[in-house]
Amino acid sequence: MTKKEVSKWLAKNLERKQAEFGLADWRIAVTHGASKEAVDRFLTCMQVTAKFQYQRAQIECNPKSYERYTVTEFERSIEHELLHIHMSAFQLVWNFADIHLSRKAFDSFDLLYNRAQEMAVRSLEGFTQKQRGKHGE
Ligand SMILES: [Zn+2]
Repeated sequence: MTKKEVSKWLAKNLERKQAEFGLADWRIAVTHGASKEAVDRFLTCMQVTAKFQYQRAQIECNPKSYERYTVTEFERSIEHELLHIHMSAFQLVWNFADIHLSRKAFDSFDLLYNRAQEMAVRSLEGFTQKQRGKHGE
């Protein structure tokens, strides 16, 4: 996809996707990499930061990855990040650990925290695929 196609897709589909994923009340901004530095440090194609208590999130897309996406792959990636937004409630646990654990313990906690989130999101992706199948999409 081109950046233009990505922007067009988002303008047409993001609101519907949010509603589909139970995030209609959220304010979700999608950006094409905040800065050159942000784009360069990206290891992944997308990343999300979310504040559960304010129902706000930002999905940063790496424009360098767009040419690798088909429309369906891009849509699945957006869905993946939307599922991560639900996981942001666990930020409370992360904040607690950040304050109360030693650096060494926190580093291990952080790895496990991220791994567990990814596992939960992947599992939910399986669920959403089944739902899609039921509705004949
Ligand atoms: Zn993920």
